[in-house]
Amino acid sequence: MSAVAVIGAGIGGLATAIRAAAQGRQVTVYEAAPEIGGKLRQLHLNGYRFDLGPSLFTWPELLLDTLASAGPKAAPFEYQQLDRSCHYFWPDGTRFTAWKEPSALSEEIERAFDIDPTPAMRHLAQSAAGFEATRGLFLEQSLHEWHSWSPAKTVKHLSNAWKGRSALPLTSSLNQWNARTGHEKLQQLFNRYATYNGSDPYRAPAMLHVIPHLEFGMGTFAPKGGMHAIVDALYQTAINLGVTVHMNTPVERILTQDGRVTGIRTTKGEHPADVVVSGADVTPTYRQLLPEHRAPERILKAESSTSGVIFYWGVRHSAPDLHLHNILWADDYKAEFDALFKQEQIADDPTVYINIGSRTSPEDAPEGAGNWFVMVNAPAGWKANGIDDLRQRVMAKIHRMTGIDVAAHLECEHVLTPDDIASRTGSHRGALYGPASNRPTSAFLRHRNRDRRIGGLYFVGGSVHPGGGIPLCLLGARITHELMERHDPQ
Ligand SMILES: Cc1cc2nc3c(=O)[nH]c(=O)nc-3n(C[C@H](O)[C@H](O)[C@H](O)COP(=O)(O)OP(=O)(O)OC[C@H]3O[C@@H](n4cnc5c(N)ncnc54)[C@H](O)[C@@H]3O)c2cc1C
Repeated sequence: MSAVAVIGAGIGGLATAIRAAAQGRQVTVYEAAPEIGGKLRQLHLNGYRFDLGPSLFTWPELLLDTLASAGPKAAPFEYQQLDRSCHYFWPDGTRFTAWKEPSALSEEIERAFDIDPTPAMRHLAQSAAGFEATRGLFLEQSLHEWHSWSPAKTVKHLSNAWKGRSALPLTSSLNQWNARTGHEKLQQLFNRYATYNGSDPYRAPAMLHVIPHLEFGMGTFAPKGGMHAIVDALYQTAINLGVTVHMNTPVERILTQDGRVTGIRTTKGEHPADVVVSGADVTPTYRQLLPEHRAPERILKAESSTSGVIFYWGVRHSAPDLHLHNILWADDYKAEFDALFKQEQIADDPTVYINIGSRTSPEDAPEGAGNWFVMVNAPAGWKANGIDDLRQRVMAKIHRMTGIDVAAHLECEHVLTPDDIASRTGSHRGALYGPASNRPTSAFLRHRNRDRRIGGLYFVGGSVHPGGGIPLCLLGARITHELMERHDPQ
């Protein structure tokens, strides 16, 4: 039986472990931390439960597909669809609810911005068409293997792209493309989707316009029991399939001989393996675990995606105006991205994202209170020397824009900075999504899922193809497993 060593029990590592074990491989996962989940860990504090990382759940079919690959050994997973994706608040008092149902959305656009909603609805239809035209090529297969470009596949992708060609902007930036929405506030709203992979909408290619379709077209969802239920379902399924998971076991080296992996070395000893899958960030994988091998320097030096400062607050307030996902906009959105990517600072007036998980998982907070996840964008590698000042600015903004005096109702607090994210998950510079997608070629500059020089070595997770975020990490696990079956069959 072929033995597979997986480094890291994040989403990508666990999902790959499930797919490999379901095909009869003997899989062992080595996790440096004392708990599973990677960026999607949880924290219990003073009667509140917080998800430390992702709060937005989209494209649930990918998780169901991963679990279903285990057949009857799949752990149960329940979730609900939401009737809206987000509540938006502007400094001038404008408020907007992004409803899922198209006619409600259209009416809301007319009400909030006093405009004809037709251009904005057409913009969304183009997002859907662009998504369908490109998903097979850019998201659901490797971009770096010859078989992905076989004549049959290439013809299929080109014909899809041809059908959706009117929705495939090739030269403009996302910001320029979003001007078609017909209103500057909607342009800003659609620009925000660049942050879903940690990029700058004023530089990122307009091809990122496919992202809104995930929310507006396919919907937003909430797992029963909160986001950590995703990790629990993956972990339980892996265990049901016979996967062994070692916590508190950092991998120190990937062992190789004659151009192939032979296993790994952890703090506890050497472990032979026929295949090694790194679910850890690609930069430390090369720099620390493969120091004798030539690293793909161009890829490792790519600009990082953004990181964040996150305040986890237990707030004893019913906050009736706030839903599960809420955005309090910066006054000057362009200045925010200039601060992040040019000055490598947090903006003076940052956009504030508030997620209250207990809106859909009431058991996560005491009655009448909420488990607030409050995040501002920060540059990757940002050194936290002004958290008190930032906290005050964020609280003042919330007070100004929602009327809630958080400080007066605060019951507990935990804070994560880019440095904390880096040290707790091994993410390079604490970036949330690996490299940024600020260039038209960025998709091709994400690291491949199979190492070309070292046989039996594979990569999965947010820092490699097809990218960061839960859906893409799950797609990456499927791609990586397909490559493993093709190049290292049992
Ligand atoms: C604050 C925040 C908010 C986010 N919001 C969203 C969101 O709303 N929606 C969304 O879809 N995505 C979101 N993301 C992104 C998403 O969390 C990640 O893209 C995804 O979880 C990354 O999974 P991964 O498989 O790459 O592994 P990671 O979660 O990065 O896990 C890697 C694991 O490998 C382990 N490891 C590293 N090195 C070693 C080693 N040498 N030996 C053993 N183990 C090792 C680490 O301890 C870690 O457990 C967010 C991320 C953060 C941090």
